[in-house]
Amino acid sequence: MIIVYGTRKKLKTVKQLGRMRCTNCGHEVDASLTKETGYFHICYIPVFPHFGLKFIMCPHCGIMKTLTGAEFKEMNNSDY
Ligand SMILES: [Zn+2]
Repeated sequence: MIIVYGTRKKLKTVKQLGRMRCTNCGHEVDASLTKETGYFHICYIPVFPHFGLKFIMCPHCGIMKTLTGAEFKEMNNSDY
């Protein structure tokens, strides 16, 4: 019997942040608050999450600004 196992990643847009100026490319972009979850799977069944990353992504240049848990919470709760 062959057991297939490994890791997978999942991207989820949590919130649209509106127009922001990207610190990398300098363009005005519609930035979004994004969450990436990686999990370990056995036979493609998710077993447990092994990391969670939170960041703001620039759709123009693709740069990701990683956020701490506190920063993420603040941005997710604030209204623009
Ligand atoms: Zn950019």
